[in-house]
Amino acid sequence: MKSSGNDGVSKRRRAETTLVTAGRDTGAQKGFVNPAVVHGSTVLYPTADDLHAHRGEFQYGRRGTPTTKALQQALMALEGPQCVGVGLAPSGLAAITTTLLAVLKAGDHLLVCDNAYRPTRNFCSGLLARFGVETSYFDPLIGGAISGLFKPNTKAVLVEAPGSQSFEMPDIPAIASAAHAHGALVIDDNTWATPLFHRSLEHGVDISIQAATKYIGGHSDIMFGTISANARAWPLVAEAIHQLGVCAGPDDVFLAIRGLRTLAVRLAQHHRSGLEMARWLAARPEVVRVLHPALEGDPGHAIWKRDFTGASGLFSIVLKPAPQKAVDALLDAVELFGMGYSWGGFESLVIPFDCAGYRTATPWAPGGPTLRLHIGLENIEDLKADLARGFEAFNAA
Ligand SMILES: *Cc1c(COP(=O)(O)O)cnc(C)c1O
Repeated sequence: MKSSGNDGVSKRRRAETTLVTAGRDTGAQKGFVNPAVVHGSTVLYPTADDLHAHRGEFQYGRRGTPTTKALQQALMALEGPQCVGVGLAPSGLAAITTTLLAVLKAGDHLLVCDNAYRPTRNFCSGLLARFGVETSYFDPLIGGAISGLFKPNTKAVLVEAPGSQSFEMPDIPAIASAAHAHGALVIDDNTWATPLFHRSLEHGVDISIQAATKYIGGHSDIMFGTISANARAWPLVAEAIHQLGVCAGPDDVFLAIRGLRTLAVRLAQHHRSGLEMARWLAARPEVVRVLHPALEGDPGHAIWKRDFTGASGLFSIVLKPAPQKAVDALLDAVELFGMGYSWGGFESLVIPFDCAGYRTATPWAPGGPTLRLHIGLENIEDLKADLARGFEAFNAA
């Protein structure tokens, strides 16, 4: 019988192959390449003895199904041998909040990078603060100097690499070794790179989170989150998931598996088009700066080159100083770049942003209006023409 892909062999394969083969059990799937979408709560036990012993691979829908198992196995293979468990959550934010609840308790202190996803900050200043956890924010470029920020009760450090608006690239190995020296766990929101371009757990991270809503889903049709953990952190994550009752809907699990199968080709194209567009924008007179760590000359470029194997299609630009109505004219003039939150789907997006309102550890003064772009899978020349039209409107306003 041919290998189903979910065995030890897959670990030695390259990531593109792992994405196609991992988590497939063609025997259990009766020959079909995709798993069944198991809608289920009740699982029947054949005998009283089995019931008393909780014997059986599946016990209850919330605790896992053949469909969730397929996705978890695929993600584990993608994350690499450090990963011993993957938790599934109904959104990326739920993956983050579940993780923080898993590793923190009243009286603890949490360090969060200043470029973290804003709803993550809201949770820290909201429910986490209410439950007696104190959060302080640090400069994402702090590196090993983060050592000076630890208190005796610091239990975790959360990084986002790079920040998904401002794109500073933290030195994760340096931050992780400082954290581990102080006995703290390291959590990485790895949504931008995905485990395909950055295997966080191999760079010192204990828990790597994906807003799978973005590139893993890849088609702007699901809300989904994943929590990949190493041996040190997994028991905490698994217990929190169990106690909180966190689980994901079967159709979304299926779509996440389907997204994974094409992640490598989609991300390769996002990487190529994103970089080409970043270079094109850097040469535009209307653009003061491009914030993209894969761009030569970006302050985060050396770290990106060292720790990442690719870049996705999300980055930001700083425009030359201009009135709001000029920026709005650009936004209204483009047709292929839709205005909407989220990213990671097939479509190009543009959104204005301003970090000044929420940053606390580092100033945000980019020197002009800022736009975040998601470069989708459309033809790159069409996208350039669309933005050129936008710049014409910007200059005319
Ligand atoms: C979108 C996003 C999240 C949250 O994911 P949802 O699925 O929208 O809850 C978390 N982190 C980053 C970096 C994101 O871009």
